[in-house]
Amino acid sequence: MSDSHILRNDADVRAVVDNVCERGDIALPELDLLLRTDDRPSVEYLHAKAREVAQSVYGKQVYMRGLIEFSSHCRNNCNYCGLRRANRGLPRYRLTDEVILQCCRQGYECGMRTFVLQSGEDAYYTDERLCRLVGRIRAEFPDCAITLSVGERPRESYRALRDAGADRYLLRHETADRHHYGVLHPGEMSFDRRMQCLHDLRDLGYQVGAGFMTGSPGQTTATLFSDLQFIKSFKPEMCGIGPFIATRNTPFAQEPSGTVEMTLRLLSIIRLLHPHVLLPATTALGSLNPFGRELGIKAGANVVMPNLSPEVNRRQYNIYDGKICLGDDITHCRSCLEQRIRSTGYELVVARGDFK
Ligand code: SAM
Ligand code: SF4
Repeated sequence: MSDSHILRNDADVRAVVDNVCERGDIALPELDLLLRTDDRPSVEYLHAKAREVAQSVYGKQVYMRGLIEFSSHCRNNCNYCGLRRANRGLPRYRLTDEVILQCCRQGYECGMRTFVLQSGEDAYYTDERLCRLVGRIRAEFPDCAITLSVGERPRESYRALRDAGADRYLLRHETADRHHYGVLHPGEMSFDRRMQCLHDLRDLGYQVGAGFMTGSPGQTTATLFSDLQFIKSFKPEMCGIGPFIATRNTPFAQEPSGTVEMTLRLLSIIRLLHPHVLLPATTALGSLNPFGRELGIKAGANVVMPNLSPEVNRRQYNIYDGKICLGDDITHCRSCLEQRIRSTGYELVVARGDFK
């Protein structure tokens, strides 16, 4: 099938989906077609294929990750993020180790077997402090996975945290296109350093999560194509994909947000390219559409991340505006999610949910 033929004819979309699925690869014109088509049955076909692939690896199980947003301090100034250091309008907080452990206990009671410790890049958390925290969680919850999402650190720091008991690390690559990276970040931040961190984490034996926002300013089909190529070659164990959401007090406050539709298509495409990946239906997706997470599962995602942070802090951890689940206690979150997942024909399970 020639590229020009692909681009001309919507009836070929299903053939493209089959082809991408068979090859586990995608060409730029194919991506362009899958993102542009407005042929609803074809888009449904894409999602159905992605579900089939996800189920062939993980069955109809959806894993939970309990998210603890333990510090909103950040030394970086990413152009898209509400936690950027130049945002003086944001109250900053740090949770104590005791409060964090309490969040883990509540999460454990509700069936979480993975804790994700996320923060801005907060220099207060020296290796010593963070290793002590990880060690305490490891000692109290030996059957749980500990995931860190605390940004770029030196390789030796990643090594110490791994030795202290961390199993996984989420560090979205944000964009695999160097030029686009420069649009999203101030000049003091480095594309090469981000990529080096991902390789260091992999070398040290972490299960690694990459990922990117959809619809971020300056993103094109070509930059998305680079993201997909990167995911295909790096094969991260996890991949966080969520819509960019325009946020107050950031340089991108007036930019249009990403869309649920495009995010769902990309979730499905990623599932076809990397069948084993652990793919969250993100809170950002749920923030743009009340059924965003259900739609994410139906598009091939297999992870949800309920928030275990204390209610007062969830509001303060304002990465983006309009974040959902700000006032619900974890028992309520758990039963709400369970119902939502069941409504999609899937089952929320009590398990670490490691990469298969
Ligand atoms: N500081 C760590 C880091 O940057 O890796 C972890 C926390 S950071 C808030 C987690 C992710 O939030 C980022 O990787 C980014 O993709 C996402 N994010 C930040 N601002 C966002 C926005 N306005 N809309 C959607 N996602 C956003
Ligand atoms: Fe800080 Fe992470 Fe937000 Fe960048 S994305 S400003 S590193 S919290």
